[in-house]
Formats: sequence, structure tokens, C-alpha cells
Amino acid sequence: MLEQEEEIIVDFVEETEKVQLSILLQTQNEVLHIQEKLNQKGYLTCVECGDDIPEKRRQAYPSARTCVPCQTWLENLYG
Ligand SMILES: [Zn+2]
Repeated sequence: MLEQEEEIIVDFVEETEKVQLSILLQTQNEVLHIQEKLNQKGYLTCVECGDDIPEKRRQAYPSARTCVPCQTWLENLYG
């Protein structure tokens, strides 16, 4: 009787872990997918101040990670 109960509990735990794992994998896939999209479009917001990077700047400099004021600031900072 007790062994059966233990089996049921073990089954339940295993099932729960499987479900949690699949949710985790799903979330990771979604995050990767979003990151891929962002990489294709370039950075949407400045990594320095968090402001939106203007679309024109993103088109001109797809690898730009900062807005114009921050870029200027960084260039002055690092010469
Ligand atoms: Zn900025």
C-alpha cells in the first residue's frame, strides 16, 4: 500500500518536472526568437540611456547600440 503511494508520488514529481522543463524550454525558445528578431532589426533602444534609437539611425547603422547623444558622449569619452 505504502509502496504504491510512493510510486504515485514519484510519478507525479516526474510529470511535474517534465512539464516544468518543457515550459522552461518553451520560454527559452521564445526568448531566443525575440533576441533573433531584435538582432535582425538592430537595437531598438539605447544601451546607455534606454531611449529609443531613431529608425533612421538604425537603418544607417544597424549595429548601433546607442542613441546619437550617447554615441557622441562615448566618442568624446574614449577619444
Ligand atoms: Zn542614449
